[in-house]
Amino acid sequence: MNFDGLKYIVVGSGFWGAVFAERIASVLNKKVLVIDKRDHIGGNCYCETDKQTGIECHKYGCHIFHTSVKNVWDYINRFSEFNGYKHKVLITSKSKVYSMPVNLATINSYYNLNLTPSEAESLLKKERIKIKNPRNFEEKAVSLIGWGLYETLIKNYTVKQWGTEPKNLPAEIITRLPVRTNYNDNYYYDIYQGIPVEGYTKLLRKILTHRNIEVKTSVDYYDISEKIPKDCKIIFTGTLDKLFGYKYGRLKWRSLKFKWQKINRRDFQGNAAMHFADLDVPYTRIHEFKHYHPEIKEIFESKKTIICYEYPADYKDGREPYYPVNDKENNSLHAKYLYEAGKNKNITVGGRLGSYRYWDMDKTIENSLNAFNIFARAKYIVK
Ligand SMILES: Cc1cc2nc3c(=O)[nH]c(=O)nc-3n(C[C@H](O)[C@H](O)[C@H](O)COP(=O)(O)OP(=O)(O)OC[C@H]3O[C@@H](n4cnc5c(N)ncnc54)[C@H](O)[C@@H]3O)c2cc1C
Repeated sequence: MNFDGLKYIVVGSGFWGAVFAERIASVLNKKVLVIDKRDHIGGNCYCETDKQTGIECHKYGCHIFHTSVKNVWDYINRFSEFNGYKHKVLITSKSKVYSMPVNLATINSYYNLNLTPSEAESLLKKERIKIKNPRNFEEKAVSLIGWGLYETLIKNYTVKQWGTEPKNLPAEIITRLPVRTNYNDNYYYDIYQGIPVEGYTKLLRKILTHRNIEVKTSVDYYDISEKIPKDCKIIFTGTLDKLFGYKYGRLKWRSLKFKWQKINRRDFQGNAAMHFADLDVPYTRIHEFKHYHPEIKEIFESKKTIICYEYPADYKDGREPYYPVNDKENNSLHAKYLYEAGKNKNITVGGRLGSYRYWDMDKTIENSLNAFNIFARAKYIVK
């Protein structure tokens, strides 16, 4: 690979990097190289259409686009139409299926009652444990929904997800635990929701299709960093601890493992997502991908389906970092690396890995658009 004259390189072709590259190419009208160490573009939003069934599979976990941010929605709609899919989640606990997030159907089903919204509010008021300053995840959860719903729907799922008792997790992990006393079972409240009609990979490919953008996959930044010209602007969306040789220590993440199965059945579970609350079920969720595209009747009605079991896992070498462990210790470790990165004016850090944040796709895109605006206004533009 020849890097002579290279002025802009984006490391990582997920949403954050792709959007940033598109802005460099179209707004600044500059040439930009995008590299990714994986053999495909799209980062964790990458999806593949199964050749035999035509079912689109989200390879790094299911992804539903949702936002209430109008400019993000307008931006992303330039590259794809969306099918209007609205996500619904079910959870199995002790052989019984409940609707999530907790809503009136969940409450009535759990307590075996037929309450009205105001009766459900009164019941929850009695059930909530009064804790003024919740010190951990468990205290926060029971202060919001009480012990019964917490132990049935949340506790063991959380143990599996984070590999530790909720008492050991910071209260901040629950930013909000929606509890609805109506029958609204839409997982998200956002105004705009859906799945790109032709999938995320095509959408991301369109973002990256520009005469000023060159994309190279299967290229690891660490294999080529020495060859990058000194005056080249590096937009980096990988993990920061590795970028600085782990000099302050390693950032903690949770990882995931996926087990895929193709089944000769029209419909396996009747919904895209089934969560599992019990500890004796080792996985947390089963995804059934055809449910994301009910509009493609031929595939939706076909006698085959694809499911994927999702297992939480420790993060170690060879595994992907999925969820940052945003406790105080790790956040301050990340801040040290960010400070280091800030010393090098040629490096711009972004994305969920670089920022050590869990961001939904809309937040990722919004953050990339904003970061680009700052970048473009500052001294970074190379003549
Ligand atoms: C299980 C799961 C489910 C999710 N579901 C949803 C959902 O339903 N809805 C939603 O809105 N959001 C969802 N998200 C969030 C969504 O995945 C992120 O918002 C998005 O992927 C972030 O994009 P990114 O570009 O920051 O990071 P990524 O997509 O991770 O892209 C970073 C890229 O950088 C590359 N890279 C890293 N290091 C190097 C290197 N050294 N050299 C070259 N390349 C490198 C990686 O290979 C990767 O391709 C989910 C996240 C997870 C973990």
